[in-house]
Amino acid sequence: MAAAATIVVLGAGINGAAIARELTLSGVGVIVVDPGDIASGTTAWSTRLIHGGLRYLEYGEIGLVRESLVERNRLVRLAAHLVRPLPFYLPVEGRWGGLWAAAARLAGWESLARAWQGRRGRGSWTVAAGLTLYDLLAAGADWPRHRIVRAGGTGMPQIDGRMFPYAGLYSDAQLLFPERLTVELLVDARQIAAAAGLPFEVCTHRQVAFAPDGTLSIVPNPHAPPRAANGEAAPFAIRPAAIVNATGAWVDHTLREMFAGRDGWSGGAGQRLIAGTKGSHLLVRSESLRGGLSGFGVYCEATDGRPIFVLPFGPELVLVGTTDIPFTGDPADARTDEAEIDYLLTAVRRLFPAAGLRREQVQQHYCGVRPLPNAAGAGGGRPPAGITRRHLLVRHEGAPVPLWSIVGGKLTTCRSLAEVTAATVLAGIGLPVLATSRERPLPGNCAGASRDAAVRGCRDLAGRSGLATDEAAVVAERLVALFGARAAEVWRASPGGPVAADGQAAAAPPASGAGLIRGVGLPLAAVEFCLRDEWAVTLDDLIERRLMLAFHERLGHDSLEDVAAAMARAGALPPAQQAAAVAGCVARLASRYGRVVPQAAAETGHPSAEEHRV
Ligand SMILES: Cc1cc2nc3c(=O)[nH]c(=O)nc-3n(C[C@H](O)[C@H](O)[C@H](O)COP(=O)(O)OP(=O)(O)OC[C@H]3O[C@@H](n4cnc5c(N)ncnc54)[C@H](O)[C@@H]3O)c2cc1C
Repeated sequence: MAAAATIVVLGAGINGAAIARELTLSGVGVIVVDPGDIASGTTAWSTRLIHGGLRYLEYGEIGLVRESLVERNRLVRLAAHLVRPLPFYLPVEGRWGGLWAAAARLAGWESLARAWQGRRGRGSWTVAAGLTLYDLLAAGADWPRHRIVRAGGTGMPQIDGRMFPYAGLYSDAQLLFPERLTVELLVDARQIAAAAGLPFEVCTHRQVAFAPDGTLSIVPNPHAPPRAANGEAAPFAIRPAAIVNATGAWVDHTLREMFAGRDGWSGGAGQRLIAGTKGSHLLVRSESLRGGLSGFGVYCEATDGRPIFVLPFGPELVLVGTTDIPFTGDPADARTDEAEIDYLLTAVRRLFPAAGLRREQVQQHYCGVRPLPNAAGAGGGRPPAGITRRHLLVRHEGAPVPLWSIVGGKLTTCRSLAEVTAATVLAGIGLPVLATSRERPLPGNCAGASRDAAVRGCRDLAGRSGLATDEAAVVAERLVALFGARAAEVWRASPGGPVAADGQAAAAPPASGAGLIRGVGLPLAAVEFCLRDEWAVTLDDLIERRLMLAFHERLGHDSLEDVAAAMARAGALPPAQQAAAVAGCVARLASRYGRVVPQAAAETGHPSAEEHRV
């Protein structure tokens, strides 16, 4: 049998991961390279919605909205443990506002649209028209149709009904942890590759050096955080059949690195493909605001007409986003500033004056850069929020190996983008598409009865490892929320753990793994699992993008110390560097998230297993 072609995917964000998976389905070997961790770029800094994008309708992006709704419905089915339907409440100030502005925008007359927008935003008729079209575009799916209601009904968000007398009710979906979806796309790609005997590697914290003949050297990233000496992968070189540049907001930077000083590598390198905008989010800890949402996501406009989302996040928090500000620096340096915090808090206070939201209730914030197509060509004079979210695939002629760049895209459309990219790249190198991911569930996919069974299985294992019944119930819910149907495998990470190779519980209790990470309701076995099965390398990888503790309400220094100690026991961190790794993580949580980590994790008031099941 001829050796399989190998394609290098640059970037382990959601798009790079989905492309890697799609390529393996067609019998191609894949190497994914990222100087950081999986999903450490824009994927981690999004609003975390899987949605059609209601507002894109006004810009006539019917095709994009239809594609997004189809993908939304698919993800809710195929990644049900991570992507959940969420009812939305869209408050409106009056009846008629916004009709003419919407029509002008649809016709492409942006300046006229802004002149006609008026102070009171879109009225209920405009909203009803948009939501009717939204329902039609999602046709065929078993989703509730929209309704227009009067404010103040039972079970509705407690929004100021004098200012917003009406509302549109509709549904979209929420992906609390796109980081976890990205990891699972790669876990699935690895399984597909293993079954077909294809080369497959995920090289995180490593960078690429480009030689003029198209050979790529994959070497350690000198700026990566510390790890055990034996955990350092050896450099290697490869001349791939093709390269896909899926580096998101870094696409132009990557091209500049590739083409620097190379006469032969010319095509497209001079032309700027991306013109990013930064967007910030707040995670707010306010019981009255969380209660005021009544389980809905709220989608509305700030006074400047920008879209704002106020969303339930996990059992206790509220996610508020976002801003949209042109950004030209290194996307890794984008940070939330006080003016953005103020802007977002003002927007929420206008909706929920009774919640009495205070600045100190902001637990943390985060900020990322949208990889939008360079607006000189794509924006057509639109404000940042109106620049197209469509993705483009650009082929660079003249490179020594076939090379494509991905421009734009959304979390929602990662799979369809991957399908188109794989088809184009494979055709470009003379290979057929053998299969697509359209009906392929993610490895952890579970919902309804299969989710209940996964929780029960985990609860039994946790109980047999010595946890009290209520503790075991919380641990099981948290594990299934993170790993879905793979949750029981976590216990297998414990040497001698009670899970057989087929994932079924065996009779004996675990030899280790009974211990919990202090304060956060997760077993230490989960650390070993992510190190062994999910390419986690550093403490930050574990805290921010595998166990998702960066968002946990009760994270403390002691939780971080437990995770670092488990890493050291697993040989992933030199024991002498444990304290420095914890200090580095605390500093990063402060600088990247504005989060202050207390010495001890809070011991009281944990949400119940039921509350975790949101
Ligand atoms: C504020 C905001 C809100 C958003 N909200 C939503 C939403 O609710 N729903 C939705 O569908 N979409 C949303 N998006 C869009 C979505 O998040 C992004 O389009 C998507 O995450 C882009 O994924 P990506 O894989 O292309 O890029 P990234 O996730 O940025 O991944 C690119 C990767 O490339 C790596 N890299 C950089 N340089 C190199 C190099 N030289 N070699 C190799 N790798 C390299 C980076 O480290 C990074 O990991 C939002 C975006 C933002 C900013």
